[in-house]
Amino acid sequence: MNNLHETILVVEDDAQIRNFICFALQGDGYVCRTADTAAEAMRLLAAEPVDLMLLDLGLPDLDGTEVLRRLRSWSELPVIVVSARDQDREKVSLLDIGADDYLTKPFSANELLARIRVALRHMYRQGGAKEKTVYQSGALKLDAERHMAFLNEQEIHLTPMEYNLLLYLFKNQGKVVTTNELLRQLWGANYGQDTQALRTLTAGLRRKIEKSPARPRYILTEVGVGYRLADDAE
Ligand code: CA
Repeated sequence: MNNLHETILVVEDDAQIRNFICFALQGDGYVCRTADTAAEAMRLLAAEPVDLMLLDLGLPDLDGTEVLRRLRSWSELPVIVVSARDQDREKVSLLDIGADDYLTKPFSANELLARIRVALRHMYRQGGAKEKTVYQSGALKLDAERHMAFLNEQEIHLTPMEYNLLLYLFKNQGKVVTTNELLRQLWGANYGQDTQALRTLTAGLRRKIEKSPARPRYILTEVGVGYRLADDAE
């Protein structure tokens, strides 16, 4: 697949991981630029055109959160955070201050490339293209114009809240959406921290669309973070 030579900036101080990532990116047609410190990353971002940044949280000179905060004051560049498994809280705050997605170490080259494709696709879509009205993941379909959802071409009857939840996840298809963001979207700006209501709503929706709600294929749980609608469920 030709990626039009998009340039990915890999900010990572571990040379082995950096090489693995660049090898995978170049194999898929991307141009790989690297920085091993936050200072070098900020210098490169200011000086060179970059299409997406992969940002390791544990850098020697500056916290990844601070790098993202500074970047977000002047740029909407897609950013995927790369973190260790025990950094759940940090992941959530990074998503809340504007990271597009995250990858947890260790990850496969396929996972990496899929996340990058999704993030770039969302960026291009925001760049002016008309908003989509029909969304699909495997046998699950949502037609926003007709306000209807289908599974295997059969209409599924959703409550208004279930429909809103599914629509919001589809608008962010393939990307993780945090619990906070969903509460704010579905219950409004004065939302409480009623995560139980969201869990109940999600469980109800899953019962209608998942063959096995305990092992969902469409609405995936991101433990400690939120949910992700499968980019292309089998
Ligand atoms: Ca590191």
